[in-house]
Amino acid sequence: MALSCRECGERFGLGPIFACALCFGPLEVAYDLPAGGPRQAADLRKRIEDGPANIWRYAPLLPVPADVADKPNLNPGLTKLVKAGNLARELGVTGGLYVKDDSGNPTHSFKDRVVAIAVEAARAFGFTTLSCSSTGNLAGAVGAAAARAGFKSCVFIPHDLEAGKVVMAAVYGGDLVGIEGTYDDVNRFCSELIGDPLGEGWGFVNVNLRPYYGEGSKTLAYEICEQLGWRLPDQIVVPIASGSQLTKIDKGLKELVALGLVEDRPYKIFGAQAEGCSPVSRAFKDGHDVVRPVKPDTIAKSLAIGNPADGPYVLDIARRTGGAVEDVTDEQIVDAIRLLARTEGIFAETAGGVTVGVTRKLIESGLLDPSLTTVVLNTGDGLKTLDAVAAGPTATIRPSLEAFRAAGLAAG
Ligand SMILES: *Cc1c(COP(=O)(O)O)cnc(C)c1O
Repeated sequence: MALSCRECGERFGLGPIFACALCFGPLEVAYDLPAGGPRQAADLRKRIEDGPANIWRYAPLLPVPADVADKPNLNPGLTKLVKAGNLARELGVTGGLYVKDDSGNPTHSFKDRVVAIAVEAARAFGFTTLSCSSTGNLAGAVGAAAARAGFKSCVFIPHDLEAGKVVMAAVYGGDLVGIEGTYDDVNRFCSELIGDPLGEGWGFVNVNLRPYYGEGSKTLAYEICEQLGWRLPDQIVVPIASGSQLTKIDKGLKELVALGLVEDRPYKIFGAQAEGCSPVSRAFKDGHDVVRPVKPDTIAKSLAIGNPADGPYVLDIARRTGGAVEDVTDEQIVDAIRLLARTEGIFAETAGGVTVGVTRKLIESGLLDPSLTTVVLNTGDGLKTLDAVAAGPTATIRPSLEAFRAAGLAAG
């Protein structure tokens, strides 16, 4: 296992570094995957299936110690892959539609996955304080994981986030700092802090621990394939904030193929953004390789990164796999949240409205094939973004049969 530069391929030992010393490209964890035969693949599948009911079942494929499951951590993962028959009928999908529902994680978003791996790296490198720049969900995940694992924490968010995200980030007892600015301002501030004595000895999960953080997203790909019966999906729709999750899902799928755990066949990866923060979608549609930063203005605050670090890699993956990147308006996001709730009983946060809304749009435009197996990610819980959906009682009445009859809701 080593860190490898995604631009020039140079390798480095595992450590708290995130940029290539030669070309400044981003580093990622590279494995020497044993290209075993069918027998070894069957053994590994069995070992995974017999493992813990969380991401640590994939410990042999992650940069974590062998006894990781015994350490104090939040043990996220193995969330439900819901076969969404009602939603499929509504959208006209005949090839099998699934919602990977990551709202079931300990702090109700997919971010518990990435933090779990970063915490192990922080332990290994001797950091005592955990930190991050966050669009909301990450701050809560870091606060909770730090409390459980015995770290101090100090996390940074834009000052104007949803109340549910702020409370989640504050309740675990670490320090929470609101920054007057956008996420991109928060992120720039954290980069400065890393180079300053003020932030010395701090592990920023998504900055100086980013190569490890990214590996957490990979477990989504592993779980989806395992839950489909060790099979690659044909199409997968992934939300984009920094783009890390999408690129690591692709990495995870490729690793499963390399290990012989799934049969190699083509898959398409689609990226989903909110129109009010759609720099990657814009670049995809314009045929550009570079992503021009924007100033976000959308209700999908968890995805509101105007200058996404992994944007160019997302473009590459969408184009290489035959997928696409699409965006939806705030109104379409709310419609999609309601659609998913009404058809499958899943209450998604705005990011889930983005993926479901984009799925609908991609089917209408013919870019997503409804006759193929399709997985849509819901990465967060609607309880954290309550203000996005104006929902309330059908009627408010006096406690009498007469009043209920008058409200026109009675049987018959
Ligand atoms: C952080 C986040 C994402 C994706 O983030 P990337 O930076 O693209 O990895 C998706 N959904 C939710 C709810 C998030 O909080």
